Amino acid sequence: MIIAVDGPAASGKGTIARALAAHYGLPHLDTGLLYRAVGIGVARAGGDPDDEADALAACGFDIALLGDPALRSEEAGPLASRVSRHHDVRAALFERQRAFATQATGAVLDGRDIGTVIAPDADAKLFVTASVAVRAQRRHDELLAKGEDVDAAVIEADLVARDERDANRPEAPLRQAEDADLLDTTDLSIGAAVQRAIALVDARLKDRT
Ligand code: C5P
Repeated sequence: MIIAVDGPAASGKGTIARALAAHYGLPHLDTGLLYRAVGIGVARAGGDPDDEADALAACGFDIALLGDPALRSEEAGPLASRVSRHHDVRAALFERQRAFATQATGAVLDGRDIGTVIAPDADAKLFVTASVAVRAQRRHDELLAKGEDVDAAVIEADLVARDERDANRPEAPLRQAEDADLLDTTDLSIGAAVQRAIALVDARLKDRT
């Protein structure tokens, strides 16, 4: 069984994907981390994230880099978004994600193009969203908890810019797959959002049988 969870930045899709993985006993891949690893790799090598060749050169990163806390920093998001626009980068990361999705155990993947490109054959697809104000507030709280005090207005502007870039790129843009269920978490607690996600997935699985 493959579960695809897509949505914009800080929508709650990562938390929901992790909870679904625990609930159904499936391995989970946060695909944003792969793009963040490439973005951080380019920056560390002194390359230009907007240059396709520089970004491609960073795609062969060591798997250990995925555990680096720098990947979850505020700078890594926009870097990831810039490298993710390149065709060669998406192609280089495709196989790794597809292999994870199709492993015998089944899997949960979250990202931007899981339901549309990586696993169009997923058994259940969720498109998780929330108002931009709520998403900025959540990201702000998350960063504060890590000791990073970034202005909430700056975070909101970054989220809007990143979503716009992700939604308007020519390849694999951020969009809801036609057969995905929309889950708006604006007014939901984490627990309520997870319960709703499980109910939506269960309904899809029941439809299948
Ligand atoms: O989900 P996260 O915020 O970690 O993703 C960082 C960036 O990586 C996104 O803004 C997007 O540009 C890119 N990304 C992508 N496709 C995915 C996952 C992430 O293009 N499947």
